[in-house]
Amino acid sequence: MMEDCTNDRLKTPVLVLNRSYEALSITRMRRAVILLWLGKAEIVESFKWQIHSSTMAFDSPSIIRLQSYIHLRRPAIPLTRKNIMKRDGYSCQYCGIKGVPMTCDHVIPKTRGGDDSWGNLVCSCMVCNNRKGNRTPKEAGIKLVRKPKRPHYFFMFRSNFNIPDDRWRSYLFLN
Ligand SMILES: [Zn+2]
Repeated sequence: MMEDCTNDRLKTPVLVLNRSYEALSITRMRRAVILLWLGKAEIVESFKWQIHSSTMAFDSPSIIRLQSYIHLRRPAIPLTRKNIMKRDGYSCQYCGIKGVPMTCDHVIPKTRGGDDSWGNLVCSCMVCNNRKGNRTPKEAGIKLVRKPKRPHYFFMFRSNFNIPDDRWRSYLFLN
């Protein structure tokens, strides 16, 4: 039914949301259009271009939402140095530098009551780590690039995660 489309466009990634609007998975345009056509999903965000078959034109979805709720049990993401670095894209969360040796830094130092948690551990370059020392960011006069949070589980399965559409960000807790 979609023979007029280029294969490239049918391979465009589409974000699939649960009925609850929670991000569930990423599929391809071809499958997303079929889900829409079967009435199993609705469009949340679409691209400006359309998909044409010989007889019909379809809006091309970027984000779809399933009509029924899918129960998923997901393993907790282990809090490890590696996963902290991965969440932060191997970039220093104080100065933004990339491609230099990194360490994990407690935003609130342990000696000051900071804990080992997603919200208190960030990837930091050695320079910032030394400069900050045993101080809070406020005391050291440095600001975090972004507030550290528990990452979305997608990130643990995709090492080079490129967001194809900025509208995905709010569903992936990247804002
Ligand atoms: Zn730094």
